[in-house]
Amino acid sequence: MGFAADVTLLACAAVLALAILVALRGGRSAVGPPLAFLSLDVFSWNFASLAYAESGYLGWHWLDIGTSPLSPPLALHVILSFAGRRRRLRWPLYASYGYYGLLAAASAGGAFSPRLSAFDASRAWPTVFLAGLAPTMGLALWVLGRHVRTATIAEERARAWLLLLAFGLVAVVGSTELWNLLWPAIPPLGGLATLLGVVVIVFVALRHRLLERDLPTTAAAQAVTLAALAFAGYLSAYRLLAHRSALRALVLALVTLALFAAVRRAFRGLAERRDRLERLAVLGGLSAQMAHDLKNPLAALKGAAQFLREEWAQGRRGPEQTEFVDLIGAQVERLQRVVEHYQRLGRVEPAPQPLAINDVVRGVLALQPFAARGNVAIVSELDEKLPLCEADHDLLGVALENLLRNAFEAMPTGGTVTVRTEWGWDGDGETVLLTVQDTGVGMNPRTRERAERGLFTTKPTGSGLGLAFARRVAEAHGGRFWLNSAEGRGTTVRLELPARAA
Ligand code: ADP
Ligand code: MG
Repeated sequence: MGFAADVTLLACAAVLALAILVALRGGRSAVGPPLAFLSLDVFSWNFASLAYAESGYLGWHWLDIGTSPLSPPLALHVILSFAGRRRRLRWPLYASYGYYGLLAAASAGGAFSPRLSAFDASRAWPTVFLAGLAPTMGLALWVLGRHVRTATIAEERARAWLLLLAFGLVAVVGSTELWNLLWPAIPPLGGLATLLGVVVIVFVALRHRLLERDLPTTAAAQAVTLAALAFAGYLSAYRLLAHRSALRALVLALVTLALFAAVRRAFRGLAERRDRLERLAVLGGLSAQMAHDLKNPLAALKGAAQFLREEWAQGRRGPEQTEFVDLIGAQVERLQRVVEHYQRLGRVEPAPQPLAINDVVRGVLALQPFAARGNVAIVSELDEKLPLCEADHDLLGVALENLLRNAFEAMPTGGTVTVRTEWGWDGDGETVLLTVQDTGVGMNPRTRERAERGLFTTKPTGSGLGLAFARRVAEAHGGRFWLNSAEGRGTTVRLELPARAA
């Protein structure tokens, strides 16, 4: 085995270390899961191609060509997640997974079917692979290039540049593996491309917070140690079982599967723990407010009951006692209303009435001087000629409070939050626009994409419910929700509600 094999061996170890680093430290980030699977996939086919070259055992070949087609769609997945465009560009992503999933199945099927095996060995195989690579990596690199141009802060631009470099390198140099099958004069440089790509990605993770957290160098050291152990295990299994091909294939396939399963489990566990914590935080916030609202009627009930008990103990009966019985009745009704109020809030069920949105805004803003801290200026620009809406006062109020709280939290060192109401038109009829705009830290595209879907927070004690709640309130009124944000500049959230038919 020559120099090229050594490079590939090193690339295997490096990409395994990357997989471990991401699996251990990247669970909360948008790129974490797809990047971990991509690393494992790249490890799997690089190792298999090496082993096949050395041993000539066909099982390795099936593993190689069965897993390598999954790398392009996984790479696209990583990049779309990074650029915050995974949802908007989900159809091209699914198409890529579909195309390469079929190719992977047909390739691995060569182990069982002579016809598929003939396809695997033909020039058609690399041709089909390359035909999909052009649109998949073309789209991925285009999205990255666009991201470089639109990033609003220098660090994000640096991350995007480096990823463009890494993925561009791997796509162009790595594809020599395929060109080599068509024209053997072209040297296959997949191992080299992988190695360089991994080095750049690890650099972005360590120096530029690709995984959305600061990584100490010890994290990298830990990953490298674990990778070395795992890799040594792989190699010794390979050597020990050298002469028992079937058993060897089985053991290595099992180890590979176990690795995939372990990563999946790690991510699932993290996600579940996060969900539970978030629900608890929501319950905590809501139940504190509810306890507060229940306290007064309960105290009144208790007082009335105590008074009546004392009166009766002393054998007194009189008309003023009826008053207290009425009071008890009234408090019970009040309690009922509080409970219904929270049920309605929880389910986002509007109880619409003709409503002037400006009144809601003024009511909420009147309380804000106490909520805002530091030197945050609150500006309100209310259009006084707005039409009325059919809307729920409480739901809109809570939604607006949430948006304002987000704005304050985004401006720890001060800034301006502008609350604006405007007249609008959505093609079907008049609308009322309610906009909350801040000059705070803004969101990077990954945060924005995930925050829009709810249950995502970047705050230590956040619930990730504020934006999702505001969106549901807008939609429950037959309206729409917009979110616009630029990192380092600020965020604009807008609710559009249909106006009441005149
Ligand atoms: P929470 O505030 O509990 O985190 P939200 O749904 O209100 O939940 O917000 C989700 C995430 O979106 C926040 O953690 C934050 O990262 C981001 N975000 C929301 N509003 C803003 C804003 N005005 N400026 C910057 N980031 C924001
Ligand atoms: Mg919030």
